[in-house]
Amino acid sequence: MTAYDPDNIFAKILRGEIPAYKVYEDDDALAFMDVMPQSDGHTLILPKVPSRNILDADPDVVAKVIKVVQKVAKAAVNAFGADGATVMQFNEAPAGQTVFHLHFHVVPRYLGVPLRPHTGKMADAALLSGHADKLKAALAT
Ligand code: 5GP
Repeated sequence: MTAYDPDNIFAKILRGEIPAYKVYEDDDALAFMDVMPQSDGHTLILPKVPSRNILDADPDVVAKVIKVVQKVAKAAVNAFGADGATVMQFNEAPAGQTVFHLHFHVVPRYLGVPLRPHTGKMADAALLSGHADKLKAALAT
């Protein structure tokens, strides 16, 4: 498998070199809003330890991050009044992965509302910031 590239966009967010609408952070994981959300509240959760995806990740790292995925999914459903949530995770480009640092998508779902495309448009900054505030508040309860 191709080696991990430390200059991928999520590695830069983890190092604080580029900004993100962060909603949760602990010793092992970081969660922030997806800038091209497939639904309102679309959030990404990643481990701090580098790996390209689930195929080269340490199982203990996956176990820690999945707990955060569950925490974010539950908070997002509450925060956005969603009817459910889709959890997605892609491994390598043929499987749909576009950023090569392991991450999980939590996509709140709303009855009768189809997902927007995976590579869509950048959302409005004020909208993302408002969604991040809502989710942070739900995660703090
Ligand atoms: P993948 O296809 O690798 O599973 O998904 C990568 C996700 O990262 C996409 O949903 C895309 O919208 C999101 N994304 C790409 N660049 C950035 C960025 O600079 N900041 C944030 N917050 N999300 C990004």
